Amino acid sequence: MKKILFLIFIVSIYSCKQGTTDKNEKDLLPLEKLKAGNKRFTSGFPIHPDETLKRIRELKRAELPAIVSCSDSRVPPELIFDQGLGDIFTIRTAGNVIGDYELRSIEYAVEHLHCKLVVVLGHEKCGAIEAFINSDNKRHYDHIQKIVEYIKREDEEKKFRQFENQSRPSCAS
Ligand SMILES: [Zn+2]
Repeated sequence: MKKILFLIFIVSIYSCKQGTTDKNEKDLLPLEKLKAGNKRFTSGFPIHPDETLKRIRELKRAELPAIVSCSDSRVPPELIFDQGLGDIFTIRTAGNVIGDYELRSIEYAVEHLHCKLVVVLGHEKCGAIEAFINSDNKRHYDHIQKIVEYIKREDEEKKFRQFENQSRPSCAS
């Protein structure tokens, strides 16, 4: 009985790999390719494509798409989108904070690597964003405070704070 179960398990894995290594994968648009890879990852059947020395030798300079993600170890783009060498141009910072250097990296990806898709990938329970949210009650005395201050200067954040203040009921005395 154990042998049969083992064989079924092997066949299941083989079938999943066969189903996800579609020959048309290379024809997918960048976003479609990411979605297909994320579907494999979340279903528990990643194929880890393009991770060989042969792949490195075959690489051309074009790398699509560009992904800006948090440095958090729970969201490495290559793993959660099940991509390999040369498949993604990544820019990672705590809290997805995009300063001058990161912006230059995005420009490089678009202008020189011809990336047609730039994804800004956020995630739940981000430590940098939590530090920002709690910054009214707690000040950090290190470089984390610089991240918090940077996020506070963002136009989107200023507009959100204005909206939040306007939405609060006023206390008439
Ligand atoms: Zn994060």
